[in-house]
Amino acid sequence: MAPFDLSRQQQSIESKIVVALERISESFRVMLWQKSKEVGLSPIQIQILIFCHYHSGAMCKVGYLAKEFNMTKATISDSVKVLAAKDLITKQLEPDDSRSYVIKLTAKGMEVVKQTAPFATEMLHSVENLSSLEKTNLFSSLLRMIDHLNQAQIITIQRMCHSCAFYDRRLNGPYCNFLNKALKDKDLRIDCPEHQPLS
Ligand code: SF4
Repeated sequence: MAPFDLSRQQQSIESKIVVALERISESFRVMLWQKSKEVGLSPIQIQILIFCHYHSGAMCKVGYLAKEFNMTKATISDSVKVLAAKDLITKQLEPDDSRSYVIKLTAKGMEVVKQTAPFATEMLHSVENLSSLEKTNLFSSLLRMIDHLNQAQIITIQRMCHSCAFYDRRLNGPYCNFLNKALKDKDLRIDCPEHQPLS
């Protein structure tokens, strides 16, 4: 069923939620475009800079970025070339593989991140307006939806607790064997630097 079919949508809360999520996704696109115009970079170039600034070197490679952003390696490589030509990143060659490199931000690249990374601030404000219970419920629902989309292979990369080798489903509730602590709903992570993929 197409959730965008207006005659059916009104009878279906599921369809209304899907359309609401589409509006939210559109907001991200608009906010990123605004930054794009300000700094003269494409949205994906900005996303690469922000991602590489906040993630470890192992993730700042063309192959990983292609999966992260659901794009081809060629598209990511083209963006990386532009970023390098603008002196926003450097390519750090891997000692054991001359075809592979890690993307490192230059001081100029970090300045661009400072300017663009708050692109979703208005979205943050909209979440801040929710009550604690609404935030907890929303977060749990979103995690379950992302889990589903991951299993359906639409989101291929995720670094959440449910797919982590350190995640322990104990009788009295989930536990993280890396942090050595019980995980309440609000402690579950969406992008954990310690995430260990299941083998
Ligand atoms: S290491 Fe991170 S992702 Fe893994 S269970 Fe612990 S908090 Fe969750």
